[in-house]
Amino acid sequence: GWLYAHMQRFVNPTPFGLNVGIEYLFMAVVGGAGHLWGAVLGAMLITLLKEQLQDWLPRLLGASGNFEQIVFGLLMVLVLQRFAEGLWPTLARWGGRWLRPEREGRAAAPACALPARAMQPAGALLLEARAVTKRFGGLVANSAVDLTLRAGEVHALIGPNGAGKSTFFNMVSGVDDPSEGEVRLLDAPMQGRPSREFAARGLGRTFQHVRLLGERSVLENVALGAHLRGRRGWWAAMLRLDRAEEAALLAEARRQIERCGLGDFADRPAASLALGQQRVVEIARALAGNPVALLLDEPAAGLRHLEKQALAGLLAQLRGEGLGILVVEHDMEFVMNLADRVTVLEFGTVIAEGTPDAVQRNPRVLDAYLGGAEPAAPPTSATAASAVLEPAA
Ligand code: ADP
Ligand code: MG
Repeated sequence: GWLYAHMQRFVNPTPFGLNVGIEYLFMAVVGGAGHLWGAVLGAMLITLLKEQLQDWLPRLLGASGNFEQIVFGLLMVLVLQRFAEGLWPTLARWGGRWLRPEREGRAAAPACALPARAMQPAGALLLEARAVTKRFGGLVANSAVDLTLRAGEVHALIGPNGAGKSTFFNMVSGVDDPSEGEVRLLDAPMQGRPSREFAARGLGRTFQHVRLLGERSVLENVALGAHLRGRRGWWAAMLRLDRAEEAALLAEARRQIERCGLGDFADRPAASLALGQQRVVEIARALAGNPVALLLDEPAAGLRHLEKQALAGLLAQLRGEGLGILVVEHDMEFVMNLADRVTVLEFGTVIAEGTPDAVQRNPRVLDAYLGGAEPAAPPTSATAASAVLEPAA
């Protein structure tokens, strides 16, 4: 619009009307809405096609009218049926054979190392929640939860579904604010700060529901996790002055992907990976931010046995490097073998905290997990058996 006004020196509403809006939408859909070059391709195709059709169709049909709309409608149906993501991704796939060598050359360019954060000494207090309470209307999702995370430990947070584990993660990572209580990260009060500041101070996290850009490659997704480690802004990016830094960020992302065992998938679109692998991509993305404290919400859900073992190995290795890891997980074998400390939540309240052995013997935990807390309705043997496998909801 700005360019248009500049050229015409006169503005009226017609060029910005509904029909033109639909045309722009159409260009984006035909070209590929998720791709920069898709917009260029779509705009070119539609503009040229429209001119040609406006010339030819009335001549062919022997009558004047906006017949191109009908052709566009048919084209739209065809594109959405055959190329739901637009024409550009399809073209790029065909052309991928020629583009790939260039891409590999770029990745191999020497990249300067990113500044890394100093790790905390083992046992140092990283994250502290004091009496954190969260209310959603009348529902108390977290009720005065106390929890600490120290460097060089894996701390497991377990509890039945709906106990408030994910809510607690949001409280201590700035995604949401506690109704009451205090959150400290590396000894700084963090209430009311945005999650960006938590990340900048050394907190990395994943989400229970995978949040990746499906169209983008695994490498690009992971590199996003490192964006706070870059210094160049969008001016530098526009003028292509940030290439060295970008190469460093991508090299760091590739290192984290390889560390997490997904090296073979780095250049694939994230959505093409299995769900379990997508979770691991999220861990790599969190690691790319160079965190000292890592919060993982059900990282092993959807992983197969061997993949779980590999994940446990990775977490143990990270612990050895001095990270503090807070992990939510339902697989008790996974938790009990890996964790140094376990905190059990039920209905938003901490009912037990301690070493895995002590927690496993705690009567309140056994109650919560065996459903024995409701003596009014003694469980039949069948429900008791399933309660052993599945935490009571
Ligand atoms: P968990 O992760 O332990 O399974 P959650 O933290 O997701 O449990 O949820 C705890 C409780 O808080 C649930 O009863 C859930 O329905 C409720 N809850 C979570 N987020 C919201 C929200 N944004 N608004 C209202 N209620 C919520
Ligand atoms: Mg949850």
